[in-house]
Amino acid sequence: MTLKLSLSRWSVFRQCPYRYKLKYVDWVTPSREISNKHLSFGATLHTVLAEYHRMEPSQRTLRRLLELVEQKWQSRGYASEQEQAEYKDRAQKLLQPYHFDPQDRGETLLIEETMVLRSSTGRGEFSGRVDRVVRTPEGVIEIIDYKTGRYPEADPEVDRPQLLTYALLYRPRLKPGDLLRTASAYYLEGNRKISFPITENALKEAGAHVAEMFRAADAEREFAPRPSSRCRYDCEYYGEVCLPDEVAAPVEERIDF
Ligand code: SF4
Repeated sequence: MTLKLSLSRWSVFRQCPYRYKLKYVDWVTPSREISNKHLSFGATLHTVLAEYHRMEPSQRTLRRLLELVEQKWQSRGYASEQEQAEYKDRAQKLLQPYHFDPQDRGETLLIEETMVLRSSTGRGEFSGRVDRVVRTPEGVIEIIDYKTGRYPEADPEVDRPQLLTYALLYRPRLKPGDLLRTASAYYLEGNRKISFPITENALKEAGAHVAEMFRAADAEREFAPRPSSRCRYDCEYYGEVCLPDEVAAPVEERIDF
């Protein structure tokens, strides 16, 4: 059987192997869906930007961009109309500096596409969804991942592993003469980009990282639950399928009736 991994599946695996098994090995239908305003906000802005970049340059006006926020708005997870209005206002404040001073100029080569790498043995498949790839005015290729969260002041390297794996995924599409030089995390907050150089060594590092994910997922046999305070908010199996409070309790503290 082919083992299919992606960065999001890997994140679930690291959060809790049992959740990973329920979701991607046993395909258990969840008892509820995870929705929160942060997921909705991020999804809205990604859809808005993808639509904006698909337009002819002459159509990309600020008015059109802000209309897209209204048209593509995802309302799940907000507590009230008032909260939605605040977040719409925030979206518009993030997009205006982007419109007037974009740090990702260039010819668009790809918009929101899932790319897949297959292992040489055919036993593994690694996929990732890339937001955008451009050929910059300098003629080199840049991979861009848009971020709607806070700029990582404390750890600007935090997105590097993710961006390098996107470069690895995109590499098979390069044509003779194409120069893939940069992968960037573009934080709409502050309209700031953090760019990582793409070198042969960086791609080898990404390949080793992906291989390590496959080794760990393939070797897992126990898929033990890993309860945490996040279960209630982050896990679709919380409650009915998995009772983490029970599994978290040390055996000697359990009372059997
Ligand atoms: S509720 Fe918690 S422990 Fe149970 S599967 Fe979900 S993440 Fe894992």
